[in-house]
Amino acid sequence: MVGKRRGVGFCMNDRCEQFAELRYYADLPSSFDCPTCFLPGVIERERGICRKDATVFDEVRVDYDFDPLRGIYQQRAAVRDKRLLGRREVYRLQSPVIRTRAQALRAARVVLQNLNRRLERPKRRRQPTRDQLVGEGWSVLV
Ligand SMILES: [Zn+2]
Repeated sequence: MVGKRRGVGFCMNDRCEQFAELRYYADLPSSFDCPTCFLPGVIERERGICRKDATVFDEVRVDYDFDPLRGIYQQRAAVRDKRLLGRREVYRLQSPVIRTRAQALRAARVVLQNLNRRLERPKRRRQPTRDQLVGEGWSVLV
């Protein structure tokens, strides 16, 4: 979704005083060496996951609170666009940068808005047919 890839790097040397401490990057380098023990560490990128041919999204789930020791996200927050009832395309964002529920919900709202922005102002010369509207997920409203 963005040119720059946010993410974290962390040291997995358990004798290092920076063991499993997350370092945040707005633009993640391709590799991470621990600045304390100089051993190569691990990186975790922020990423979005969705079905390839999905066009309309009614829900964004954000996985956050990344645990470097287990390599998993411990929490999830979700927002849903209620105008798009009947559609069930979900976009998942996994972000090691997001630590709190408030941050996750804010990110989910922004992502959902951006994903569906093109629905707000469709480029059309003629009035859309009912079939076109239904195809875009407006089945409940038309
Ligand atoms: Zn280290």
